[in-house]
Amino acid sequence: MYFRPNIESLSPYVPGIQPQEPGFIKLNTNENPYPPSPRVEALLRSVSASDLRLYPDPSAERLRATIASLHGLAPGNVIAGNGSDEILSMIFRAAAGKGDRVAVCYPSYTLFKVLAAMQEAEVSEYDLREDFSLPEEFIAAPATLKLVASPNSPTGTQYSLETIDRILEATEGIVVVDEAYADFADGDATPLLAKYPNLIVTRTVSKSYSLAGLRIGYGLASEEIVSGLIKVKDSYNVDRLSGAIAEAAISDREYFRETVAKVREQRERLGRGLGDLGFAVFPSGANFLLARPPGGKAREIYEQLLQRKILVRYFDLRRLSDCLRISVGTEEEMDVLLKALRDILGPGAA
Ligand code: PMP
Repeated sequence: MYFRPNIESLSPYVPGIQPQEPGFIKLNTNENPYPPSPRVEALLRSVSASDLRLYPDPSAERLRATIASLHGLAPGNVIAGNGSDEILSMIFRAAAGKGDRVAVCYPSYTLFKVLAAMQEAEVSEYDLREDFSLPEEFIAAPATLKLVASPNSPTGTQYSLETIDRILEATEGIVVVDEAYADFADGDATPLLAKYPNLIVTRTVSKSYSLAGLRIGYGLASEEIVSGLIKVKDSYNVDRLSGAIAEAAISDREYFRETVAKVREQRERLGRGLGDLGFAVFPSGANFLLARPPGGKAREIYEQLLQRKILVRYFDLRRLSDCLRISVGTEEEMDVLLKALRDILGPGAA
């Protein structure tokens, strides 16, 4: 045994089939089906390989300034990283030590518990209510670090500003609101940053900017928290290319709005289509839907979709094993998926 026994797999995903080859419709990891802004393509064409000779700016000033102006904050309120997963990792490294209390919900983003285990922190896990709303015990729980994803994954549930405010009111430690999917929702927790110095909001360009392959995420927080996180970050955690590409994508507001609107439109359409087929669809503010197929046949449907080269997410976990999580794709992809589901469910389905 070479490593500490508490080290679990860092990968939030159960190893599974990840077909990248053409022909698959990939609706399992909530990527955006549309390409990134044309400004990204243009920038990539103008890059000179010799630029890569030099280290990047260790404090990613330009990217942080772009993000700060997007949110009406100062660069000192922004920390940038290698995906929002890295921001979460920094938060745990800086704030949660051995024996510290970390409060999370179930079901939610599995990485929270993995990072807590690596820090040897004590995890208190609270079951979400039947409708996936937050239980009062979680809202009021004392914790060194409390994490909530809103919209939540894998449920899609968005928590109101008022609920997040109540969490912050009740918590002395750091509260992280993981907003990886917030661009697809109505409203977010950033207005609370001015009120609470213990709030960290994490964001990513992976979903709404179609840049999951780039690995850029960021955290928004008080200057005190940002300087604490800077202490534990790797020196050059944002590389030259990724930083510049994220800046280009974030600055193209019109393309961003168009893409998000298309995803939201297809989310509504997919929800109606699944409902017509007898699925129970949970309300979602994200770019995916959690839905319970009729007849408790989630695993069978997952497998039959896979045979048809359509990949959705099946979780063999408590409270989720009768559901499928389906990422929102293009209009054509949603047509193919709904047709396949009609075929699988047979003439009984509407
Ligand atoms: N938070 C949640 C809730 C997620 O689902 C994801 C994506 N798997 C992330 C954070 C991480 O996103 P990224 O590291 O790509 O920014």
